[in-house]
Amino acid sequence: MKQLRSTVIRAGLEALYYSGAHLLLRPLFAGVGAIFMLHHVRPRDGRPFQPNHHLEIEPSFLRATLAHLRAHDIDIVTMDEAHRRLVEKDFARRFACFTLDDGYRDNRDHALPVFREFDAPCIVYAVSDFADGTGRLWWVALERAVAKASAIEVEIGGRTTRMETGTAAEKQAAFDRLHDWLRALPSEHDVLREVAALCARHGVDESAICRELCMSWDELKAFAGDPLVTIGAHTITHPNLAKQSEQVALNELKTSRERIEAALGRGVLHLAYPYGDRIAAGPREFALAKAAGFKTAVTTRPGMLFPESADHMTALQRVSLNGNYQDERILPVLTSGAATAMWNGFRRIDAA
Ligand SMILES: [Zn+2]
Repeated sequence: MKQLRSTVIRAGLEALYYSGAHLLLRPLFAGVGAIFMLHHVRPRDGRPFQPNHHLEIEPSFLRATLAHLRAHDIDIVTMDEAHRRLVEKDFARRFACFTLDDGYRDNRDHALPVFREFDAPCIVYAVSDFADGTGRLWWVALERAVAKASAIEVEIGGRTTRMETGTAAEKQAAFDRLHDWLRALPSEHDVLREVAALCARHGVDESAICRELCMSWDELKAFAGDPLVTIGAHTITHPNLAKQSEQVALNELKTSRERIEAALGRGVLHLAYPYGDRIAAGPREFALAKAAGFKTAVTTRPGMLFPESADHMTALQRVSLNGNYQDERILPVLTSGAATAMWNGFRRIDAA
């Protein structure tokens, strides 16, 4: 299913590019700006099994994206400035923001040098438990367990299910099935328990992953000192907020904000919802983010910014820079808004 969706997206992007249709759609769907969504920025690693590859781009693709925006005279601005332009309806110039989720160390080592080449600002959304070194990046743990295993057995719906994981294709199929199963479990606790069991069975040290990949508080503090960098919040534990009680969800938002503010000695005014899709963040979460005092909050729902985005400041849509589509030819399609418009059935705002 994921493979099919991926093929359809790729075909859609290519059709838009080759037909030139994105140029026709542009006046209708380009919007006033865009918020780009990134996770890891790092050189490509040649392993054949990389199910989380969509979450990483190479520094050269970031450079190509920034160069494309500069060549089209699009301003690259901070989230504070994007907020101001939306509130004041200052749309004289198109603008773009760069957002990076989770607080990976490669953001400092590989993304910041590229942002510096263009004097372009970015915002990194930190998870306070990740900075503590105690967070659980279960999707990476799952990848590592499947990578190590030659077969995996789990109880799905009360039945023991065995998946062969000898080849890269088998590993990918098993990962997709396990990932879908985990995300459908009733609580965050269930996900973490199942992934911990898989790691224990297949010899993966889950506790080391967070410290290996994420910036510590000391590193974040130094990183935040760069004038191009803003730090936002991405909760305490990176849960699916929609599955939490209102009290727990609000605490995830407020306490992560307070912890980051205390550690960095500066205000934290911007939020990214973990997972950020329709099943993880909806109208209740958009209201909670506002109640927790955030000026803006970004989802992972695809879309550009439009003047009416100002009425949905805690439900902002983004344009993913997806590791599976690192082709410079798609940049005009992405910045035209045609790809995200197609995805949304040509609705401009998706905040319900
Ligand atoms: Zn995240």
